Amino acid sequence: MFEISKRISSMSPSLTIEISDLAKKLKSEGKDIISFSAGEPDFDTPDVVKNEAIKAINDGFTKYTAVDGIPSLKKSIIDRLNSYNHISYEEDEIIINNGAKQSLYNSFSALIDAGDEVIIPAPYWVSYPELVKVCDGVPVILETTFEDEFKINVDKLSELINEKTKMIILTTPSNPTGTVYSKEELTKISKILENTNIIILSDEIYDKLVFDNLKFTSPASINEDMLQRTITINGASKSAAMTGWRMGFTASKNKAFIKATKKLQSQSTSNINSITQQACIKVFDGSIEKDIEDMRVVFEKRRDLAMSLLSEIKGIRFHKPEGAFYLFVDISSFETNCLDFCKELLQEKGIALVPGVGFGSSGYFRMSYATSDENIKNGIAKIKDFIESKY
Ligand code: PMP
Ligand code: GLU
Repeated sequence: MFEISKRISSMSPSLTIEISDLAKKLKSEGKDIISFSAGEPDFDTPDVVKNEAIKAINDGFTKYTAVDGIPSLKKSIIDRLNSYNHISYEEDEIIINNGAKQSLYNSFSALIDAGDEVIIPAPYWVSYPELVKVCDGVPVILETTFEDEFKINVDKLSELINEKTKMIILTTPSNPTGTVYSKEELTKISKILENTNIIILSDEIYDKLVFDNLKFTSPASINEDMLQRTITINGASKSAAMTGWRMGFTASKNKAFIKATKKLQSQSTSNINSITQQACIKVFDGSIEKDIEDMRVVFEKRRDLAMSLLSEIKGIRFHKPEGAFYLFVDISSFETNCLDFCKELLQEKGIALVPGVGFGSSGYFRMSYATSDENIKNGIAKIKDFIESKY
């Protein structure tokens, strides 16, 4: 009777979530597990934000709000996009969503018709191809290489473009590689798209997590053409350590597109949690800039620690991530299947990593260093033992 639809039965579950759930389960059974799987800051949400949420509850701010979000939150997002991302949006060019995941899903739903192609540079974040497919779109994978530091080769991009190409996804800083695009690199990409109708979906969820004094650049800030064709997606999950609060947003100069996603949201989930909305005003209005910066500095130190320990392991290679909180490690010299490698490592040493195949690149694993120095030291020592005893 309950035959699952073809749409959902053909969908793969999120590997990042599956593995972090498995690590949590093993831990709760009393096993000694160190998890490098979850892409989730281990810090607590800043007090200013928590207190604002408590105040919202006490003030009775607990009813439905406008589907697309309260004006005061939109205002604080507009200010933040102006000052940090150098892009200017108006209130009706923004919608607040239930995490950046819903921003992505709503955007694909509103724009993709059956057969429309979406170019996704690989390694990609696990959810992109599945969300495109569930909206009847066709993911077209644009391979990048270790040698190119996982950055888009514009000639390869040109070759993939045809009359069915609807959209390209850009993620800077990248999950899983930590790659950050410079203004010059984005300008080169913009030239390829200039005379097309291709929409850019820019996932900027890690925009505050850049290292080595690099400057983050939003694709929409490159020029007027890029501003018009780009959908900017961001949220509170990563930079403000608020994964459980579920807040993301979508911004676009195309008001009809924002209106279409609002229509979908009005019939599906309505507004996001009213308390989260009130609290998130503090995320974008500058109140927690010091907290965000303190967390960023810790992530940068952890990156350096993890890199120096991993560099003592023979047979692996990786690039220095310029942002986010992941290391994407090449284990192809071991001639093993990365899924088996990660499974055996979890069984034998209690270390959880995500196999590269989930990100479209077998022969790699992703290690999230959003965890304590102690876990990084002990966990990498175990990975070293495992590799030295097996390969
Ligand atoms: N985009 C990327 C690149 C991510 O890593 C994540 C991780 N969750 C998301 C979007 C979704 O974020 P959210 O928790 O706000 O839904
Ligand atoms: N984005 C995080 C990750 O890549 C969280 C898990 C998820 O939403 O898939 O691990």
